[in-house]
Amino acid sequence: MTADDHSKPWETVRRGLLLLMSSPGGAGKTSLSRRLVADYADMILSISATTRPPRPGEEEGREYFFKTRAAFEAMIAAGELLEWAEVNGNLYGTPKAPVMAAMEAGKDVLFDIDYQGAAQVAERAPDDSVRVFVLPPSWSDLARRLHARAQDSEPVIEQRLALGKREIEYWRAADYVIVNKDFDRAYADLIHIYRSERMKPGRNPWLPGFVQGLTEE
Ligand code: 5GP
Repeated sequence: MTADDHSKPWETVRRGLLLLMSSPGGAGKTSLSRRLVADYADMILSISATTRPPRPGEEEGREYFFKTRAAFEAMIAAGELLEWAEVNGNLYGTPKAPVMAAMEAGKDVLFDIDYQGAAQVAERAPDDSVRVFVLPPSWSDLARRLHARAQDSEPVIEQRLALGKREIEYWRAADYVIVNKDFDRAYADLIHIYRSERMKPGRNPWLPGFVQGLTEE
């Protein structure tokens, strides 16, 4: 291949990455994730399966695939999940097939999953995984955001905050940590992480041929 064979080789041959976004609920991980997927055509959002009932405004196949416990357990038994975990008494898991298809097509995949799921994916695909942890600027801010979104009852919010205190301990396992004080700044940080990770040589299999073409010119 010479440099002229592909005018934009970076658009033709790429190795997708797995962007694993974790945080305690309410820290803004979901908003950051959805924005990145909306802005970057090469990034696909992994839609999880869950036994949690839909919240007001959530749609089947958009936020989650909502399953009964029996249906979820059947997916586990059939080996259809890349990872799964129990969070707050509900099961959550990542369907394997769409992730594999995206990787084969050279797309990047974003996972909005808890630290247990992120650890499982990173262990299975260490070279392809990038782990990002989102922290709230303060604990009172996190509590305020959970109350403000008014999607959960008071006892559920209290349970989530208690869980969040334990989850937050896992920040050390991340490759990158973003403190979400201001959404626009946090989003700019996330873009920096994504774009830098995309420029790693191993994610750009077109590079050797491209460089060879340069030296042969
Ligand atoms: P929520 O009920 O607020 O939508 O999600 C609760 C937690 O479960 C969040 O931390 C969310 O990221 C996580 N979660 C969502 N989908 C998955 C998944 O497929 N696997 C794992 N391990 N966690 C998930």
